[in-house]
Amino acid sequence: MNQLQALFGGTFDPVHYGHLKPVEALANLIGLSKVIIMPNNVPPHRPQPEATSQQRKKMVELAIADKPLFTLDERELRRDTPSYTAQTLHEWREQQGAERSLAFIIGQDSLLTFPSWHHYDTILDNCHLIVCRRPGYPLAMEQAEHQQWLEAHLTTNPEDLHTLPAGKIFLAETPWFNISATIIRERLERNEPCDDLLPDAVLDYINEQGLYH
Ligand code: ATP
Repeated sequence: MNQLQALFGGTFDPVHYGHLKPVEALANLIGLSKVIIMPNNVPPHRPQPEATSQQRKKMVELAIADKPLFTLDERELRRDTPSYTAQTLHEWREQQGAERSLAFIIGQDSLLTFPSWHHYDTILDNCHLIVCRRPGYPLAMEQAEHQQWLEAHLTTNPEDLHTLPAGKIFLAETPWFNISATIIRERLERNEPCDDLLPDAVLDYINEQGLYH
C-alpha cells in the first residue's frame, strides 16, 4: 500500500503547540497516520539555536511521548554539516523508492522564504509540500516568478498527495496558532509564563536545564 509519509523539519528551539497542533489537525484533515519530526542541526539560513542538538532532541521526545502520531528522525542531528532540506529529501526519496508518496510539512512563513532555500526547485521532485496556516504571513509569494512556481504546483485535492509520489503543493486549512519559539524564548528570558504555549513536560525540562533564561 502506498501510504503517504510526511516529514516535518525545523529547529524546534523549543518545540511548541504552534508546531504540534496544526500538524495534528492536518493529519485528521488529509488522513495521515504518521508524521516524522526531524530537528535540523546547523540550519544554514538562520542564527544558531540556543539549545544544543541533544536538548532540542530531548524536548521533541518529551513533547511527543504521549502522541502516537509523531515519531522522531535524528538523521540531520547526527550530521555535523549543514542541514540542507533538498539533500535530506533526496536521500529520503532514495531510501523509500520512486513510487511512495512523500511530503514535507512547512508553515506559511516557510513557504514565503522557500525560494531562497538551497536548490529549492529540486525539492518537489522528491516530495509534496504541505503548508500549514500561520497568522501574520501572506499566502502570496513576493516575486511573480515564485508565485507562478507556486500556482504551477498547487492542488486543492488532498487525494493527489496520496496517489502521486511527489510534485504538489497543498495549502491546508489548519487552525491558526500565534506561537513561535522566539516568543517563548523571549517570555522565558523575562520570566513570563508560557504554560499555554508548549507541553508541560517540555517546560519542566527547560526549567530544569536552565534554558533560555
Ligand atoms: P523561531 O521563532 O525560532 O524562528 P519557529 O517557532 O518558527 O522558530 P521552527 O522550528 O523554525 O519554529 O519551525 C519549524 C516549522 O514549523 C517551520 O516550517 C515553521 O513554518 C512551522 N511553524 C512554526 N510555528 C508555527 C505556527 N505557529 N503555525 C504554523 N507553523 C509553524
